[in-house]
Amino acid sequence: MYPYSTTPSFSFSFLIVPGLIGLVVFLVIFLIFRFFNLWYWRINEITDLLKEIRNNTKNEIVGWYKKAGDNFLCKDCFHKRKDLNKEDYRSVKGEDLNKNVYICDDCKKEI
Ligand SMILES: [Zn+2]
Repeated sequence: MYPYSTTPSFSFSFLIVPGLIGLVVFLVIFLIFRFFNLWYWRINEITDLLKEIRNNTKNEIVGWYKKAGDNFLCKDCFHKRKDLNKEDYRSVKGEDLNKNVYICDDCKKEI
């Protein structure tokens, strides 16, 4: 019989509890960081989307204008009317609305 034990008397078992606590703390910090990262990314995405929508409405055709006769038709009425000579009309885009207010001759809608 050996006088000494074959298992080492020094063990790292006392590190298990602090190790687990450390792991949990690390996980919590990681999740919080990830949450803020995702949140920031989402805000960025939404801002880009809003910018894109604003640019698209600026360039979108909102109606048609005929200089001779000072006629304006919104895009819905313009497409409904079949009796128009569409070449007489020029398109009115969203960005033109900053300068003028247009009222549709057919549906009286203010654009
Ligand atoms: Zn109209």
